[in-house]
Amino acid sequence: MTITERFLKYVSFDTQSDENSGVTPSTPGQRVFAEFLKKELEELGLTEITLDENSYLFATLPSNIEKEVPTVGFIAHLDTSPDMSGKDVTPRIVKSYDGGDITLCEESKIILSPNQFPELLAHKGEDLIVTNGHTLLGADDKAGIAEIVTAMEYLINHPEIKHGKIRIGFNPDEEIGLGAHKFDVEKFGCEWGYTMDGGELGELEFENFNAASAVITIQGRNVHPGYAKNKMINSITLANQMISMFPRHETPEHTEKYEGFYHLVGIEGGVDKTTLTYIIRDHDRVKFESRKTKVQEIVKKLNSEFGAGTVALVLKDQYYNMREKIEPMMHIIDLAAEAMKAVGVTPNIKAIRGGTDGAQLSFKGLPCPNIFAGGLNFHGRYEFVPIPNMEKATQVIIELVQRIASR
Ligand SMILES: [Zn+2]
Repeated sequence: MTITERFLKYVSFDTQSDENSGVTPSTPGQRVFAEFLKKELEELGLTEITLDENSYLFATLPSNIEKEVPTVGFIAHLDTSPDMSGKDVTPRIVKSYDGGDITLCEESKIILSPNQFPELLAHKGEDLIVTNGHTLLGADDKAGIAEIVTAMEYLINHPEIKHGKIRIGFNPDEEIGLGAHKFDVEKFGCEWGYTMDGGELGELEFENFNAASAVITIQGRNVHPGYAKNKMINSITLANQMISMFPRHETPEHTEKYEGFYHLVGIEGGVDKTTLTYIIRDHDRVKFESRKTKVQEIVKKLNSEFGAGTVALVLKDQYYNMREKIEPMMHIIDLAAEAMKAVGVTPNIKAIRGGTDGAQLSFKGLPCPNIFAGGLNFHGRYEFVPIPNMEKATQVIIELVQRIASR
């Protein structure tokens, strides 16, 4: 089976996750896909295959050398984004892309164009897999799964390639931020791991945001508007005042690279009560803490003006930058970068402006940087994956395990 055939098979499973379901996996389709993969791994001859009640699928490729080398894991996620349907994905292969517009759907005039997506031009001449314009593709992260499985198959068929014990893990619900929660790091038993969940060729990531949420509830005082003078407190007006107290340019639309932000993601209210929901993000832990302090100060100020208890704040840390866990073992980044170079890929090390399963796993004791899976335009109808990207990612895995064994 080629990686393309494997990938096309995988995207036929509807594994869209659902943040409101409250169970693990959040949708039954992920279980169905996990069962299918389990069978495939059995047929390939992997060992220690386990699929737990939460649909975490683990397996082992045993070491084929005498020497003791670190056990290393490769991880990808089963689910696709809740942002767009992943049902009845109908992929199409665009043979040797000519650099022009790609019509995804003639009837609905849905076009994947380098005018909007100049990244396409880096893949002129390559075979691309695209959608029919009505679903996402699911390269995030079925490309990652296909690469890992294909690499394991290759290693099984080429016993002359020497490697230590390799663990692979496929988890549900990454897209709703729950992929790492029930990941049994001890059972996985690796010294470190790599998530195959990045985008473009060469991506290698070990930094992500520190993240917190702030839910601010403003209690007003509702009085008949005809008799409200000096009595009414309109919580909407207060909310408006509060929003204007946040630094105006420290928002997602005004920041990039290592710049952090406050992001107002929700507002809900009436005269009596208004709730604001913010997310707070910063790569730097110290700056992150001072952002949280800033929110507390704003709340304090309003309470001193309008009376204690007018504004209530619930601050919650969500995840942290994995950099502090990776830094003491930078060789795991160096190894990945060297493996990429060895197969002709230029490593592109950059900070994620978001979180990853790998960050949470790193704090659970499994240091876990992120390697490209090769797809682009994740989470929407314009998602596509160049086939050579998937082939390169597979080669990176094969190269990487050899390097780890020969250290
Ligand atoms: Zn992903």
